[in-house]
Amino acid sequence: MLSLTTYRSKRRIIQVVSTIVIILLPFLSVLRLDIPTLRIYFLNSVLWIDEFYLLFLVIMLILWIIIIFSMLYGRVWCGWMCPQTVLNELERWFEKWIKRRLRIPTKGGSWFQRAVTYFILTISIGLVSLSIGFNLVAYFVDPYRMLFEIARGTLGTVEAGFIIGVAILVWIDIIFWREKFCIKACPYGMMQIAITDLHTQIVRYQTERNDECINCKACIRDCMMKIDIRTSPYQTECIHCGDCVDSCVRILSRLNKPTLIAFSWGEKNKQNRWYEKLGFVDAKRWIVLCLTVVYAVGLMTVIELRQPVSITASGDRFTLYRIGSEDRIYNDYAVKISNRCLDEAVFNLAVTSEDVQTNDFKLHTIENPLSLKSNQAQTLKISISTDGRNLHPGPNRLYLTATNLIDKKVKTETEIVFFMPESNSNFMNTKSSLNKN
Ligand code: SF4
Ligand code: SF4
Repeated sequence: MLSLTTYRSKRRIIQVVSTIVIILLPFLSVLRLDIPTLRIYFLNSVLWIDEFYLLFLVIMLILWIIIIFSMLYGRVWCGWMCPQTVLNELERWFEKWIKRRLRIPTKGGSWFQRAVTYFILTISIGLVSLSIGFNLVAYFVDPYRMLFEIARGTLGTVEAGFIIGVAILVWIDIIFWREKFCIKACPYGMMQIAITDLHTQIVRYQTERNDECINCKACIRDCMMKIDIRTSPYQTECIHCGDCVDSCVRILSRLNKPTLIAFSWGEKNKQNRWYEKLGFVDAKRWIVLCLTVVYAVGLMTVIELRQPVSITASGDRFTLYRIGSEDRIYNDYAVKISNRCLDEAVFNLAVTSEDVQTNDFKLHTIENPLSLKSNQAQTLKISISTDGRNLHPGPNRLYLTATNLIDKKVKTETEIVFFMPESNSNFMNTKSSLNKN
């Protein structure tokens, strides 16, 4: 059974859980920007690209969460959840495992043994890199469709190109960069310096007990970033993994002494109350937390209250109006209806108005009601006709309403302008000229 007495074992559990979450997010459409359909899947909602303001607000929320998390816990993301750290550690573990299985010494060995080790490593890392490439592209393209197309050998060149491109970068990263990427290139690591302050969680060597250090250097040997935490708790390379804490606990416990290295809320670490132990030690943190919660609740309310149907209509402004049979006046429109519900919907279109009777209006289109699958959009040519008795000459403001016949609460409308002839004489002249033609 896995013991949870060390930070390393706790870290392994969190790394496994976070890796599973990162793999599953696009499959469950919890967070995915689907580029072919220009839709954003966020939690239980589907945002359309024309709702870009919502996407912007969602990104802001994610940034806020990152900021408060980093302000409280420092680089815990890097050491405990980041896929880059997971890959670095996985590669090191796998290399050791191969050497053990093939009975190759950890250091040295014949050129043949080394070649076999690196061959197996290169192929395995290649396969892992391809899976990572697929998973990353799945955040932007439907993963089920890609799997289906891969199985049939019909995956598009663009998707295949991106998967291979990402895989090559990941392969280079694991083989050549590893921790160098965290230190030199990771933007999150650089951002940390600006966000953290004197109360942020750090891994600290207790300099006041310096004379108790037996200089065994276990903390340096076990550090994947190969730094000496005793020199400063604020080294940019430190990813707060806690391995050096485990090392010092292991060594000094044999001498019945407490560890010299520990996680600490800033250098003073005088937190006693439960909320202080969680890192909420000053007003700044409470304010940021409250703002984040208010913002998140507001955003989720806005997303939930959106009408899951959108309708836009643009009138034919070359013709303005036509006079048809039985002296009815016709206006033509191009109407776009989008079903943003999670289920199929059947939309009934109707003309409505707050000011005039609309029972003489007729709507002419091929499909009304119109059946749309979830997330489907359709553009229709429609004509609206009236005998004109309730309208005044010139433009009249009306509404085109779409109601889902399956769930009548789902309803939306868009304003349209209906043009009538300017005067009765105009109307008669137009009518007689049309009749002559
Ligand atoms: S100094 Fe300690 S906490 Fe920092 S990276 Fe090295 S082992 Fe991890
Ligand atoms: S593991 Fe502890 S005792 Fe050993 S060198 Fe590091 S701080 Fe000193």
